[in-house]
Amino acid sequence: MDTTAEKNIILQVDRLKQYFPVKKDSIFKPKAYVKAVDDISFELFEGETLSIVGESGCGKSTTGRAILRLDEPTDGKVLYMGKDILTLNKKDMRKLRGDLQVIFQDPFASLNPRQTVKQILNEAMAIQNVVEKSKRKERMLELLGYVGLPPEALERYPHEFSGGQRQRIGIARALAVNPKLIICDEAVSALDVSIQAQILNLLKKLQKQFKLTFLFISHDLSVVRHISDRVMVMYLGKVVEIAEKKEMFDSPLHPYTKALLSSIPVPDPTLKRDRVILKGDVPSPIDPPGGCRFHTRCPFAAEKCKQEEPPLRELVNNHFVSCHLAETLPV
Ligand code: SF4
Repeated sequence: MDTTAEKNIILQVDRLKQYFPVKKDSIFKPKAYVKAVDDISFELFEGETLSIVGESGCGKSTTGRAILRLDEPTDGKVLYMGKDILTLNKKDMRKLRGDLQVIFQDPFASLNPRQTVKQILNEAMAIQNVVEKSKRKERMLELLGYVGLPPEALERYPHEFSGGQRQRIGIARALAVNPKLIICDEAVSALDVSIQAQILNLLKKLQKQFKLTFLFISHDLSVVRHISDRVMVMYLGKVVEIAEKKEMFDSPLHPYTKALLSSIPVPDPTLKRDRVILKGDVPSPIDPPGGCRFHTRCPFAAEKCKQEEPPLRELVNNHFVSCHLAETLPV
């Protein structure tokens, strides 16, 4: 199914860069930067879930933070409903924060331990001024209902809940301001598998109910397979492949994606899967390899791969890949 057909673009990321300066150990050395996100572009369609996957350090969380301006991006554009949010002043950015919410991996760290759930939800609504003061209690109870928590939860503190329940509070807080786009940054990674499934199903239900768009950042491909409409793979600050979920899992084109997917456990022990083990470590993002960034670990690397950076190009319908040799590689 082509999920991109006739859909509105809600977010367009254009040539985004996020470099972090590295402390110099000598005044004679040139200034160095960690190129955490290096010139990436992609679109997010209204109502979809686009997942960003890749090994730790690939730039997926940095991308989410840069979009929300939690870290100020180095360069590029982030167009939200056509408006470049990187050019907004503080006041306009604050207004927009209601539309763009985030759910973090560790709800315990992102919830104020000194506030009750009531105070947490009230604060979110007060900052964005979304509900009249007199109607907030009613709205809070409604929010708890949406995320499957009892009314008594309002008077309790975050430490009185389990990890899964705390994540439900985090989701209620995000919903409190009527968001349109939620960035879920490893939102279920800290939870037990059974609880993960409950939270993923809750997110899917709420997405349908409130027509939400999700940018879902995860290192866990089983989770990504469950929740995504499309998948974007990152390696060393670059986008290497984007496709519809089924297309990506059935017919990956980039050697890095193939290696990642080959590591997913198969539930049936009688089925054999050829696991691709990548040699070497991910190179340093301070001094990434020239040409194709993956060439130092790619079993198919040719001379051209060391010299020229492969562009992200559409090889089949809505399936984009950044590899010079994608057409000729073994499936
Ligand atoms: Fe491998 Fe070359 Fe393709 Fe990069 S461009 S993934 S090095 S074959």
